[in-house]
Amino acid sequence: MRVDLHCHSTASDGTDTPAELVRNAAAAGLDVVALTDHDTTRGYGEAMAALPAGLTLVTGAELSCRIDGVSLHMLAYLFDPEEPELLAERELVRDDRVPRARGMVARLQELGVPVTWEQVARIAGDGSVGRPHVATALVELGVVASVDDAFTGDWLADGGRAYVEKHETDPFEAIRLVKGAGGVTVFAHPGASKRGRTVPESAIAEMAAAGLDGIEVDHMDHDADTRVRLRGLAADLGLLVTGSSDYHGSRKTVALGEYTTDPEVYGEITRRATGAFPVPGTGGI
Ligand code: AMP
Ligand code: FE
Ligand code: FE
Ligand code: ZN
Repeated sequence: MRVDLHCHSTASDGTDTPAELVRNAAAAGLDVVALTDHDTTRGYGEAMAALPAGLTLVTGAELSCRIDGVSLHMLAYLFDPEEPELLAERELVRDDRVPRARGMVARLQELGVPVTWEQVARIAGDGSVGRPHVATALVELGVVASVDDAFTGDWLADGGRAYVEKHETDPFEAIRLVKGAGGVTVFAHPGASKRGRTVPESAIAEMAAAGLDGIEVDHMDHDADTRVRLRGLAADLGLLVTGSSDYHGSRKTVALGEYTTDPEVYGEITRRATGAFPVPGTGGI
């Protein structure tokens, strides 16, 4: 059984539509795929409608958080998407992405880059707008060669010349809100140091004490040493260990199912969740 618990669609900064994502997941031989768009559940309906037989959909989201000035991502699974408190926080973060992206466009214009908000808005479509969309605009303009190349101090990396902060949730509040909506939390790529500062282990221990369920260990942004360290930390703290592709379609090089989660851990996540159930595919449209 092959389980990939972290994937993005055009509902945020992936390039597959939700329907394409589930079809591609089935074609990649996955049995379970999670849809975890940044700060939104908007892709759920389309993904469910297109879900091929033999593939199970885990509904989720990747929540933007910040602690002591360090940004982090909290994966949330199988929460009730209608629960009002979590919904309100998700909308706050997602809506703040628009003025924030406009702010990054303004910074880039000050730096002499002829990017416009209209261009970024076209690239983002109706997805929750983020830096990868701005990065794609920079690629279109020939400013950088690839999306990855836009994530440097010169451009869009945390603290970079054109970086603008957005509203991000306190992770303890995120854990509380997700639990309140019947969901399960997994700290996404906690050792992804190339993305900027990472959260210290002491803070992860505090999150574990506050009800964090797991950490994502097998991820392309973690080298072998980091995975060993994080596995040890998870064992010490009694946290579940997941692995996932963090697939973004053509915006990243990673393939669906390139990293996977142990089926037993997946089973434990489904047992803990009360806000929603995994959706078995019936054939799709
Ligand atoms: P945002 O949520 O708008 O701040 O953008 C964060 C997104 O940018 C992440 O979810 C990744 O998709 C992407 N990202 C972050 N850091 C990097 C990086 N160093 N290289 C490539 N993509 C990145
Ligand atoms: Fe992303
Ligand atoms: Fe992430
Ligand atoms: Zn992600």
